[in-house]
Amino acid sequence: VDKSTAKEEALKKIKVTKATQSKLSEVDFNNLAFGKIYADHMLVADYSNGQWTNAEIIPFQNLSVSPTNAAWHYGQAIFEGIKAYKDPAGHPMIFRPYDNFRRFNKSAERMGMPDVPEWLFIGGLDMLIDVDRDWIPTTTGSSLYLRPFMIAADEYIGVRPSETYKFMIINSPSGPYFNKPIKLLVQDKFVRAFPGGVGFAKAAGNYGGTMYPTMVAKNKGYDQILWVDGFEHKYLQECGTMNVFVVIGNTAVTPDLEQGTILEGVTRSSVMDVLSDMGLKVEEREISIDEIIEANKAGTLREIFGTGTAASVAYVEELDYKDIQIRLDSSKYTVGAEVIARLDAIRTGKAEDPRNWNYQIDK
Ligand code: PMP
Repeated sequence: VDKSTAKEEALKKIKVTKATQSKLSEVDFNNLAFGKIYADHMLVADYSNGQWTNAEIIPFQNLSVSPTNAAWHYGQAIFEGIKAYKDPAGHPMIFRPYDNFRRFNKSAERMGMPDVPEWLFIGGLDMLIDVDRDWIPTTTGSSLYLRPFMIAADEYIGVRPSETYKFMIINSPSGPYFNKPIKLLVQDKFVRAFPGGVGFAKAAGNYGGTMYPTMVAKNKGYDQILWVDGFEHKYLQECGTMNVFVVIGNTAVTPDLEQGTILEGVTRSSVMDVLSDMGLKVEEREISIDEIIEANKAGTLREIFGTGTAASVAYVEELDYKDIQIRLDSSKYTVGAEVIARLDAIRTGKAEDPRNWNYQIDK
C-alpha cells in the first residue's frame, strides 16, 4: 500500500491541538473494561457544500449538538471498528485499515451519506494514532480500539438526506478478550437483514434493531443470536456482531456475501486466508442449520466459531434450534486455537505479514 500521498495531504489539512495534560497516568492498564476509557485525543471533521473541512485533532471532549440533529431522528449514522497494536520494537501498527476504509464508504453510499476521502480516514487515523501512541496497550491480547464514525449534522427534522455531516475518530484502550465459549440461539422469529436491505452496512440502526431479540435471548441464558435468513429461517447469516465459520471435516464454511445481508468482516477475510494457510479448504457459500445438524449426526461437525475485531475468534459450545440442541466441546477446538494464534502473531508483528495487513505508523 502506498500511503505516502494520503499522509502528506493529511499533514497539510489536519490541524493538531494537543491536550495540555494527558489522562494516561489515571488509567489502570491491567483492568481495562471495553469502551469505558478514551484516549487523550480525537479527530473531528465537517462536511458541507460537498467538501470535508475543519479537520482537526483535538483533546477528547463533548460535542454541543442541537436537539434537531438529523442523525438522532432518522439514523444516518455509520461506524467502523479497528484495532491498533505495537510491534515488539514498540512501533504502532493498525490492522488492515484500508479494508475498513472501503467498507466505511460502502456503508456511507447505502445510507445516502458522502464518501470520506483517504487523507481523512487513513491519514487521520495515522496522525491520531501517532499522537495517542502511548495509549496502545502491549499486554497479550490487548489493543487500542479505534472507532471512526460519521453522523448526519443537519439541524432539521424533515425527512431527507442530511446536507451536512460530521466525521470523527475516537480511541479506546481495550484489555484482553477472554475467550469464553458462547451459547447461540438460532433466531427463527426476528430477522436481522433482508436482501435489498442494509445488512452489509455498518449502520447504527442495524445494531438498534438487534437489541431487543438479543436481550430476550440473554434472558434465556444465551450469549448471542445466530441470525438466519428471513424466508426459510435456516440459512446462516451472522452470530451477534460476528461472522460465523463452521468446520466440517477438513472444510471451513462461512456464509457468502451475495445477498447483501452480512457485514463483510475484516476478521472474516483474514481468517479465510489463515485457514487456507493452515491447509483447510475454505468455502464461502450458503450453509443451513440442517446441514449443521446432519454433519453433527454424521460426526463430521468439528467446530463453530464467530469472528470479529472485538473478540477475534469466539468458540461456540452450544447451538439451539427449535427443540434441537447441538453441543460442542470447545476445549478441543484446534482449528480455532491455531487461527487465533496465527492472527495474533501477525498483528503484533511477531510473525511474517505476507499480505501486508499491518499499516505501520512510523514507516
Ligand atoms: N458482523 C457484524 C454485524 C459486526 O458488527 C461485526 C463487527 N464489526 C462483524 C460482523 C465482524 O466484522 P470485523 O471482523 O470487521 O470486525
